[in-house]
Amino acid sequence: MATDVKTTCPYCGVGCGVIASVADDGVVTVRGDPEHPANFGRLCSKGSALAETIDLDGRGLFPEIGGQRASWDAALDLVAQKFSKAIAEYGPDSVAFYVSGQLLTEDYYIANKLMKGFIGSANVDTNSRLCMSSSVTGHRRAFGSDTVPGAYEDLELADLVILTGSNLAWCHPVIYQRLGAAKAARPSMKIVVIDPRRTMTCDIADLHLAIRPDGDVALFMGLLAHLAASSAIDQNYIAAHTQGFAEAFATASALSLIDLMERTGLPSMQIREFFRLFETTKKVVTCYSQGVNQSSSGTDKVNAIINCHLATGRIGRPGMGPFSLTGQPNAMGGREVGGLANMLAAHMAIESAEDRDRVQRFWVSPTIASKPGLKAVDMFRAVADGRIKALWIMATNPAVSMPDADAVEAAIKACPFVVVSDILRETDTARHAHVLLPSLGWGEKDGTVTNSERRISRQRPFLPTPGEAKADWWQVAEVGRRMGFAGFDFHSPADIFAEHAALSAFENDGGRDFDIGAYVGIDRPAYDAIAPFQWPRSAGMKPGVTRFFADGGFYHSDRIARFIAVQAPATSRTNEQYSLTLNTGRIRDHWHTMTRTGKSARLSSHIAEPFAEMHPADAMELGIRDADLVELESPYGKAVVRTLVTERQARGNIFVPMHWNDQFAAKARIDALVAPVTDPFSGQPASKNVAIAVRPFKAA
Ligand code: SF4
Repeated sequence: MATDVKTTCPYCGVGCGVIASVADDGVVTVRGDPEHPANFGRLCSKGSALAETIDLDGRGLFPEIGGQRASWDAALDLVAQKFSKAIAEYGPDSVAFYVSGQLLTEDYYIANKLMKGFIGSANVDTNSRLCMSSSVTGHRRAFGSDTVPGAYEDLELADLVILTGSNLAWCHPVIYQRLGAAKAARPSMKIVVIDPRRTMTCDIADLHLAIRPDGDVALFMGLLAHLAASSAIDQNYIAAHTQGFAEAFATASALSLIDLMERTGLPSMQIREFFRLFETTKKVVTCYSQGVNQSSSGTDKVNAIINCHLATGRIGRPGMGPFSLTGQPNAMGGREVGGLANMLAAHMAIESAEDRDRVQRFWVSPTIASKPGLKAVDMFRAVADGRIKALWIMATNPAVSMPDADAVEAAIKACPFVVVSDILRETDTARHAHVLLPSLGWGEKDGTVTNSERRISRQRPFLPTPGEAKADWWQVAEVGRRMGFAGFDFHSPADIFAEHAALSAFENDGGRDFDIGAYVGIDRPAYDAIAPFQWPRSAGMKPGVTRFFADGGFYHSDRIARFIAVQAPATSRTNEQYSLTLNTGRIRDHWHTMTRTGKSARLSSHIAEPFAEMHPADAMELGIRDADLVELESPYGKAVVRTLVTERQARGNIFVPMHWNDQFAAKARIDALVAPVTDPFSGQPASKNVAIAVRPFKAA
């Protein structure tokens, strides 16, 4: 008789519900949870193969110090001692945590509490910085809070769905399945894909705009100017609920059609058709993902999109709104508990003295970080130049995934004290750890995650604990206790969730949107029984809230939204030496640096090796044929991959997936080529629009 456990997929931000069945002989099978509102039983290839990735091969099973087995007591004492010593000698900003959207919300909560409330630094940042921080900043600029205004069902209810910087078919496959089914049932629905590549998502598109990388700001500025000129804006909504329209319009209308064509690389007919579709369709959802966020103008892209929805009042109503699709399974949960160096827990602002005081009083903590900490790229710069003396990396592999990855790996290697908490013993990052702490993985750990539509779901354990592995929250709480701090006596993730809920509701007079006060005082059985819900859900509220802002009620102090007068950047970074534009991204069947999906032969058979997708005319000019090995070079690094010559790629652009690392394919760490250039508002690195040189590979 199999035991069924309801849990959540650990891969992308769709957050699909999964039922794991454990047979008497221990064999695990997975299927989609038909009752989960994110997927209603659907799964994609990665979710379906979860059972193939849970073996113990490569797992860390006990703590290690200097590569030698150690007891938990010895390892945790050493971590506490080294962090305390660095803080005593060099101050709180000499230590840092670099965490991950793979952590559960409870893990994130404890890491933030220790760093911001007890160590007194805000040097806790996350690989979610690489994923969606431009959306967070764009939301905060426009809405006064990091609030996704809609829900997945809005994509099904819309008459026009715009997907910009999103290969939904491969990166959020179950949302793509839902959208495809909606369009099949209602063929009048229109879909526009804005992407330099003709991706698989274009298979269901009515219009594909092969835009120049970073041309999106100009395109949506042009749209705003067009809507105003066509009297297609909602004057009542603008007057009642917003400010700054005149400035945003003035900047947008300064761009001529020729400017738009130049900056977007699109013909005028396509631009006009896109504008016409938006103007004449009431129910519009604009989805955006990494092609928007991973840019030096990512925040302005987000606000350029939001501007168009505010101007037409198309927000927070069924089938209408801007919609940020989060990459990671719990990037949103991390945001809720202050998992970024520039945020406090429960969506409070680190810049606000009132918020800092509130959090400190709630935690009864000896201190509170008084300024934002180092964001990911700056954090590793500080590691490289010796300002960071002790670094704790949790559930992520920055030696592969950070921009300028070779320099990041060298910085980690040179750091005086590095702790790595991971499920695996040997990642490109873990091999430089002074202390290695074995963490629980998917199927073993217990807590909550939040998906792109603000839906909080449980991850539940169904596998035995491997070796001596422990939950990440437990590891951090133990170190906090050993550093002499009170406030870390948690016995289970339910205790942490209850505290997190209490903080969210603490002195909240309605001025903050994130409030899960319905869960204050929750006990273990009730925590175990939590069914997926959308936040907020304050005390007494039955379901959560599906949509925000149809009737205003924004979270700036005056409760009105802000138009942002964005600037269209120059789009090309190429020059004579580095003449092609690299855009990195994901493929359908792998996740991040393949530490889990790389275990499944089935997933690896979809695309067996890294590749560079390029246009036939570019290949011909460089004397390159399909399937040749080529060397890619930027000022930061090199990689060798095989070509895939196809007209799906726009001329002048090259797409290379970011998954492979030295474990799977030597010299294929593509993030080693990516410049550590960041968005000035969000600090998110630009993993797209990288100038590189391409040449046939000659073996030495
Ligand atoms: Fe998992 Fe995302 Fe696939 Fe859903 S769509 S099964 S969350 S990888």
